[in-house]
Amino acid sequence: MKISNILGERERGVSFEFFPPKTKKGQEPFMKVVNTLRLFDPMYVSVTYGAGGSTQETTRDTIFRIKEETDLNVMSHLTCIGATRKEMDSLLKDYISHGVDNILALRGDPPKGVKDFDPTKGEFKYARDLVQFVKSYGYFSVAVAVYPEGHQEAVNLEKDIEYTKVKVEAGADFAITQMFFDTSYYYNYMDKAVKAGINIPVIPGILPITDFKKVKEFASFCNTTVPQAIEKKMAPFLNSPDDMRKAGIEFAIIQCEDLLRNGVKYLHFYTLNKSESVTEVLYAISSYFDELNK
Ligand code: FAD
Repeated sequence: MKISNILGERERGVSFEFFPPKTKKGQEPFMKVVNTLRLFDPMYVSVTYGAGGSTQETTRDTIFRIKEETDLNVMSHLTCIGATRKEMDSLLKDYISHGVDNILALRGDPPKGVKDFDPTKGEFKYARDLVQFVKSYGYFSVAVAVYPEGHQEAVNLEKDIEYTKVKVEAGADFAITQMFFDTSYYYNYMDKAVKAGINIPVIPGILPITDFKKVKEFASFCNTTVPQAIEKKMAPFLNSPDDMRKAGIEFAIIQCEDLLRNGVKYLHFYTLNKSESVTEVLYAISSYFDELNK
C-alpha cells in the first residue's frame, strides 16, 4: 500500500528502518527482528541502499523477502550515485511487478576513501532528479530525506530548505529526517519549512543510542549536534555497554515523548537491525501514543 495513503488514514504511527543483512547467515536472525517489530503494527518498514548503489541486489532481495513473508508495507531506499537511468528503470519495473510501491529517493554519499568524488557527475545529480524519475512511472509513493540542522554540504539551513522545496515540488509525498538529539532543531526546521511552503509530512528519524562512540562519529559526519546533556549522561558508561544502552533508551523515550507532546504524529526508528532498544522505547511510549490516539 502506498505510504502517502497510509499517512492520510492513520492518526499516529511508527515505521522502522533496516539495512540488508550482510551475509546469507544473517538473513534468518534479520527476519526474526522484522517479525518482532511487526507486532507494533508499523505503517511501513524501509530497507537502505548501500553507498554507491553497492547493495542494490541485497536491498531488492530483502524487500522482496519481507513482502513475501509478512503483511508489512515496504519502502526501498534508492540513491543517485552510480545509478544510470537504464538500471533504475529495470529495478523500478521489478518493483512494480512485485507490488513494491514506495521509494525513498536519495542522492547518496560519495564512496568511502575516494578523494575529490563529485556526486553530481552521474545521470542523476540530486535527489530531486530521482524523485522526478520515480514519480514519472505514476505508480510510486515517494519519500525524501531532510536535515533538521541542514545537510552537511549545504551552505546554510535556509539554502538547504530551498533545495528541499524543489524535491517536494518534484513530487515527494513525505519526508524523513536525519537523526537529531535536540528536538528544538526539529521544531525550528518545521517552522522554517512550513514558512518556505513545504507542506508534506516530515517524520522525525529517531536513533536510540547503543554505541555512543559510533554515534558521535556519525553525528560529526552528518552535521548532527550531540548535546552536552547526552555527553554527560553517556560519559560514565563508555566501558559499560549495558548501562550505555539503558541510558540511550531513556534518552530516546524522553525525545519521543517531547515530540509527541508537541504534536508529532509519526516516528521513524533507525533500528540498526536490532529490536531490543526500539521495543523498549515503544513500550515506554505506548500509553502516551494510545492516549493521543483517542
Ligand atoms: P539532495 O537532496 O540531493 O541534497 C544533497 C546536497 O545538495 C544538499 O547539501 C543540498 O542542499 C544540495 N542540493 C540539492 N539540490 C541542489 C541544487 N539544485 N543545486 C545545488 N545544491 C543542491 N544514503 C545512502 O547511501 N543509502 C541510504 O539508504 C540512505 N538512507 C537515508 C535515509 C534517511 C532518512 C536520511 C536522512 C539519509 C539517508 N542517506 C542514505 C544519506 C543521504 O544519501 C545523504 O545524506 C546524502 O548526502 C544526501 O542525500 P539527499 O537525498 O538528501 O540529497
